[in-house]
Amino acid sequence: MTIDNLKIEFEKKFNKKAEHVFFCPGRVNLIGEHIDYNGGMVMPCAITMGTTLLVAKNDEHIFRFRAVDFPETTDVSKQSTYSKTGDEWFNYPIGVIHEFTKAGIDVTGLDMLFSGNLPIGSGLSSSASIEVLTGHALNEMFNGGMDKVELALLGKRVENDFMGLNSGIMDQFAVAMGKDSNAVLLNCDTLDYEYLPFEIGDYVLAIVNTNKPRKLVESKYNERFNECRTALKLLQQNLEVTHLCEISIEDFTKNRSLINDPVIENRALHVVSEDERVKKAKDALVSGDIKTFGELMYASHDSLQSLYEVSGKELDTIVEFSKTYEDCIGARMTGAGFGGCAIALVKKDSFDDFKEKITNYYNEKIGYKPGVFSSVIAEGVRTVV
Ligand code: ADP
Ligand code: MG
Repeated sequence: MTIDNLKIEFEKKFNKKAEHVFFCPGRVNLIGEHIDYNGGMVMPCAITMGTTLLVAKNDEHIFRFRAVDFPETTDVSKQSTYSKTGDEWFNYPIGVIHEFTKAGIDVTGLDMLFSGNLPIGSGLSSSASIEVLTGHALNEMFNGGMDKVELALLGKRVENDFMGLNSGIMDQFAVAMGKDSNAVLLNCDTLDYEYLPFEIGDYVLAIVNTNKPRKLVESKYNERFNECRTALKLLQQNLEVTHLCEISIEDFTKNRSLINDPVIENRALHVVSEDERVKKAKDALVSGDIKTFGELMYASHDSLQSLYEVSGKELDTIVEFSKTYEDCIGARMTGAGFGGCAIALVKKDSFDDFKEKITNYYNEKIGYKPGVFSSVIAEGVRTVV
């Protein structure tokens, strides 16, 4: 929906004009998967698609939640504390209000209309988008005085404590801090970050959505989180580290026998080697070696497939096709996995052909079509009007 149409929709729902419009993108992670909760380096970027929020204050001390994409609505009176009720979408913004209230920021009544163009539950982080979007809006409307890193951290607390998913900081950081045409190289332990110009010459970043119905992501995610904690505890018998990503490949090789479960060992090997790949990917980007960057993407996918076991036949089919396509130099699943999206670096001139051929290939193997689009790296959360 265009902003003008959203404004009309807002007036219809609330009988008044929207005072402000805010936008927050989604993200893809270029490389560094299942790394953020292991204290390592990731390389996400914000994308053009995202979530829009229109707001107007009210004097009634009520928060009214409406969405274009979901039928459920709720009105919540201002309280000193909030809790999650059910699984409806509005729990995300309520969680954000809870965090603002906890931080002692006096948020009073607000009428809100949300609308997004990100595929939901597809690993492009529509949840981080709505969290950081709501945070930015409250911060602007009620003079919260938070910077964007604080908004990202607040969004993470909503995801972890309010919604109950043990995810790391990457998604919220990427959608808050994203920069036009730049990847964000983020150390998830220290939150040190730098922008890396994503100059990929004649290539485009293609996003391929598996369109797989969402299942199991949360439970498997939490399972991997716990497996990494187990691996860390065992390795800490010999190594003085607080995160898996502090361990070099050499130290891991020397100490891997401390882990007597081959599954846990594989999980840790993925984490340690993926963290190395991110560093190599940075060097490749800086030196303009996009071919090496692409190879690292393939290597990342292989590791996620065979060691970390978070891929699936849909994501594997996309990467398998990409490997056979001459004008594609790298592809991998992005996000938590099991379904969701893959990304690929494809020659600009061949994108339409790639789209057609991968659609047919995927459809034949999987039985339904994927979503294929080319994307541009965009700015993080912002005030539109
Ligand atoms: P992902 O972050 O991979 O897209 P999640 O399951 O983490 O998937 O988050 C999706 C949830 O976020 C949706 O089910 C909904 O509750 C909320 N959400 C995302 N986009 C919107 C939107 N445009 N309007 C309302 N709620 C949204
Ligand atoms: Mg999410």
